[in-house]
Amino acid sequence: MTSVLWFQGGACSGNTMSFLNAAEPSVVDLIVDFGLEVVYHPTLSTAKGDAAQEMFRQYASGEKEIDIFVYEGSVILAPDGTGRYDMFAGRPMKDWVTEIAPRAGIVVAIGDCATWGGLPAVPPNPSDSHGLQFDRGGKRGGFLGPDFVSKLGLPVINIPGCPTHPDWISQVLVALAAGRAGDLALDDLQRPSTFFTSFTQSGCSRVQFFTYKQDPPSFGQGMRTGCLFYEFGCRGPMTHSSCNRILWNRQSSKTRAGMPCVGCTEPGFPHGDLAVGTVFKTQKVSGVIPKDEPEGMDHISYMALAGVAAAVAPKWSKQDMFVV
Ligand code: SF4
Ligand code: SF4
Repeated sequence: MTSVLWFQGGACSGNTMSFLNAAEPSVVDLIVDFGLEVVYHPTLSTAKGDAAQEMFRQYASGEKEIDIFVYEGSVILAPDGTGRYDMFAGRPMKDWVTEIAPRAGIVVAIGDCATWGGLPAVPPNPSDSHGLQFDRGGKRGGFLGPDFVSKLGLPVINIPGCPTHPDWISQVLVALAAGRAGDLALDDLQRPSTFFTSFTQSGCSRVQFFTYKQDPPSFGQGMRTGCLFYEFGCRGPMTHSSCNRILWNRQSSKTRAGMPCVGCTEPGFPHGDLAVGTVFKTQKVSGVIPKDEPEGMDHISYMALAGVAAAVAPKWSKQDMFVV
């Protein structure tokens, strides 16, 4: 059995909601087939009161060992570094994290709030929220510090997203439960490379419209025609995620449903200044050039490519090719 202790800090429970929808494998599979013992989860567990508090104390003191410590939500330090804006089981949550994280075999941060502060850390960050090992923008450090390693000698494993994809969580937990933590390649932001090397755009059903610079007729229209990058702010070409390779609920993704990718797996999320009317609108320089180009491109090469693509766009690229 692999023991899992799941705590929630500054969070909306969105990642728990997402996790409950895991399909490959499901939460039931994790417990029945893969031997996960969830010793505590704020939504799923019945443990409460003195008994729960005593259990937490045993993990915090090292009297009992925990294999995987899953943390959802930001670590809140306000007011004045006391952490008293987020009390849990009689003390600031940050104090539980301080004691349990270094004693856990592996620490996993679930969702943007736990990985780099997420929405609560957006300036002016009134709750003084931090991610476990990174801060907003991808600055290494976070609450536990840049040199933190868990008992097995691993840094925090980050599974970002707002919320994160349920199968990313369940597949990482399976790998850890199978003793394959050492095989889990991590990128510079400590995300499992298997999920965060390709882009949201990889596998998007609109990618042929991206190639020929074709927009959908308008937002929410043309569910299958046009690319959402040019006018509607899609960050698919510069967001590392496997949302179009591992479909949500085995069914779909944002871009397949007509919703631009808002780049939720990157440490700059939410991107931009969030002024009214900017979120689903491509921000442009001089009214023409997208402020953020596809990863690895500069303004000049992007404009050259886009100009040629639009000029040579074939007729089919302006049509809904999924109509049969
Ligand atoms: S920019 Fe967005 S909508 Fe367009 S192809 Fe890429 S992921 Fe799909
Ligand atoms: S499509 Fe983009 S915004 Fe949506 S979950 Fe995937 S990475 Fe996040």
